[in-house]
Amino acid sequence: MKRRNFIKNASLTSVGIAVGSSLLNCADTPSEEKKTATAALTTNAKTPLPLVIATWHVIDATAKAMEILQAGGNALDAVEQGCMIEEANEKGQSVGKGGLPDRDGNVTLDACIMDKHGNCGSVVYLQDITHAVSVARKVMEETPHVMLAGEGAKQFAVTKGFKPEDLLTDASKEAWEKWKIESKYKPIINIENHDTIGMLAIDKNGDISGACTTSGLAYKMGGRVGDSPIIGSGLFVDNEIGAAVATGLGEEVVKTVGSFLVVELMRQGKSPQEACEEAISRIVNKPNSNYKNFQVGYIAVNKQGVTGSYSIHQWFSMTKFNDGVNEQIQSDYFNKT
Ligand code: ASP
Repeated sequence: MKRRNFIKNASLTSVGIAVGSSLLNCADTPSEEKKTATAALTTNAKTPLPLVIATWHVIDATAKAMEILQAGGNALDAVEQGCMIEEANEKGQSVGKGGLPDRDGNVTLDACIMDKHGNCGSVVYLQDITHAVSVARKVMEETPHVMLAGEGAKQFAVTKGFKPEDLLTDASKEAWEKWKIESKYKPIINIENHDTIGMLAIDKNGDISGACTTSGLAYKMGGRVGDSPIIGSGLFVDNEIGAAVATGLGEEVVKTVGSFLVVELMRQGKSPQEACEEAISRIVNKPNSNYKNFQVGYIAVNKQGVTGSYSIHQWFSMTKFNDGVNEQIQSDYFNKT
């Protein structure tokens, strides 16, 4: 089943979230009490390590990451190899090979990675290389830079042994041909045209890393880059505090430096859930916010392994693998009207 369709049909799968949601939805509960109830559910949790979370329904990717963590591997290897599963999955039309192209038919990838030391690497507008997240890691580890773009990023990847290949699959080409008939350029809610894979992991040592990889907004303008490769927007990791990753309309995430914001809010004492909610409220409460027409979702984890997720609209979810359970958890969301 396609990930997006699965998400549309998914119901709550986590007891914790189900209880939290029923408290949140209780019409008689004043908002401060609602917040306290949610926070109590999250902050009292004792989380055994290791742990991995990812945006959307990506149980194969979280399973790969957990395999590495269980074997004593570090969080950085886990998030890279977890994301690689989705990059290689041609059926996922939003990441790596098989990603939907820009409006000119070019598949262009954005990705980044960040480790426990605050080191980071990213690639933007990368073409013809499936594993953008691994190129981002090479940028981090084998260059003095943080970000490489376009042809330079591709040439760098080739010199590091990555094999160029055509990323436009028949299915994505067909979808693009259909889109061209009307060529409507309208960044809409997430259901059909974007969903990045963002992954955060804590290893057995309690160290955190994160990664993010995407083909970006489908049928975007040539040259468009979203939030996903921008450190602080699409992803931020602070090994003392926690980490956050974003998905959805990147322009809105960039304008609020969303993932950095979530981590800073956790530093100020908010739970991951509260921090994700506050970051979404910064977007929807802007004067003249057009939030009804786009989606943004955040997932976050703090140093204690407590997790949170929140989005503007429904149908956002995260996959969480912890304590032997690999499950999709439906997110709470802002727009209940
Ligand atoms: N955030 C990505 C972007 O704007 C898209 C997505 O999350 O699917 O490029």
